[in-house]
Amino acid sequence: MKRTLFTEDHRLFRDSYRHFVEKEIVPFYAQWEKDGHVSRELWLKAGQQGFLGLQVPEEYGGAGVDDYRYSVIMMEESTRAGVTSGAGGMGLHNDIVIPYILAYATPEQKQRWLPGMCAGEIISAIAMTEPDTGSDLAAVRTSAQRQGDAYLLNGQKTFITNGFMADLVITVAKTNPALGHKGISLIVVEEGMEGFKRGRLLDKVGLKAQDTAELIFEDVRVPVHNLLGAEGQGFYYLMRQLARERLNVGVGALAACETALAMTVEYCKQRTAFGKPIGSFQNSRFKLAEMQTEIEIGRVFIDHCIEELLEGTLTPEVAAMAKWWGSDLQKRVVDECVQLHGGYGYMLEYPIARAYLDARVQSIYAGTNEIMKEIIGRSLGV
Ligand SMILES: Cc1cc2nc3c(=O)[nH]c(=O)nc-3n(C[C@H](O)[C@H](O)[C@H](O)COP(=O)(O)OP(=O)(O)OC[C@H]3O[C@@H](n4cnc5c(N)ncnc54)[C@H](O)[C@@H]3O)c2cc1C
Repeated sequence: MKRTLFTEDHRLFRDSYRHFVEKEIVPFYAQWEKDGHVSRELWLKAGQQGFLGLQVPEEYGGAGVDDYRYSVIMMEESTRAGVTSGAGGMGLHNDIVIPYILAYATPEQKQRWLPGMCAGEIISAIAMTEPDTGSDLAAVRTSAQRQGDAYLLNGQKTFITNGFMADLVITVAKTNPALGHKGISLIVVEEGMEGFKRGRLLDKVGLKAQDTAELIFEDVRVPVHNLLGAEGQGFYYLMRQLARERLNVGVGALAACETALAMTVEYCKQRTAFGKPIGSFQNSRFKLAEMQTEIEIGRVFIDHCIEELLEGTLTPEVAAMAKWWGSDLQKRVVDECVQLHGGYGYMLEYPIARAYLDARVQSIYAGTNEIMKEIIGRSLGV
């Protein structure tokens, strides 16, 4: 079915980002998968070529183009090239961290951080999850005690995307633990602050080139002017911004489904068994037909969500639907595609095997799928 989301400008951008992925990510990807993170040069090149902070106003070093469709294109192209985790960190920087800075930072903070973030000189992360709490965000234990003109930050975070390389970390901490979720604030920690340490670079099942790390804060003195927004508002800011992160998962999921199906259709045409292409068996055709149908249905839904996000009408409940349903579809589709590849589907040299490993986390991060269903269920008044 024809997609109606994109204009000629988007098509040109897609060509140019596709070229960037082929030239700057694909050749280095195998090494980055071994390293567990991409290179700093990639960030700098992405910055130079205008792929970071597109929505940031020109006065702060961006392109001033606030159009989520460019982010969609970037997610789709890295997925289609089979290098999702080579660009995932930049996606988090562009689509998750920068929106917080734009929405809640003061002009002085924007001036301090955004030009470097657009240039790829400042790599960013957002640290919510802790060893003892993920889904229950209100239970975070990291504390930020006010002492004169600074906060004394203590705590630990884990599973933090870009954590190993980050120069700037939006850290979720309790400035007033007695108030529960109303005592949560967002504190910006910067590289070089004494007591800010990295823990392990974590060895994951998939998304191998995407840096995921532990962070440790030991008596870090963070100047009060690094508070993002108002004290005690952190939880509400997170709730407001998470819809976009959740749609991101749905967008990535649909791109992954389309990519997996396209490579499997090709494989089914070429691979023979019992003297015929495996695609000619009725079971294979039915499986491919079912997947194609569900992906078309999912595409219409996800594109509609993208339109709603552009219009500012995407609700947290619909974003939660895009997240859980999209990621579940991805897991089912990729699993079926592995099956149709037979033994080759289990070999990591085949992109479908890596797609299988990359898919698993989609129902876990950005809020688990169970939490998504809680959000939707509560909206039904039950
Ligand atoms: C690759 C990767 C990257 C990540 N990147 C980041 C990042 O950049 N920043 C960040 O802050 N975090 C990040 N995370 C953390 C991620 O968001 C959490 O893992 C996720 O929110 C789940 O939290 P948890 O791991 O503590 O699981 P838990 O909260 O312990 O959940 C365990 C199980 O219990 C279920 N459960 C919990 N509560 C309920 C409930 N009320 N009802 C029903 N079921 C429930 C969950 O659905 C899950 O199945 C990342 C995780 C991964 C794996």
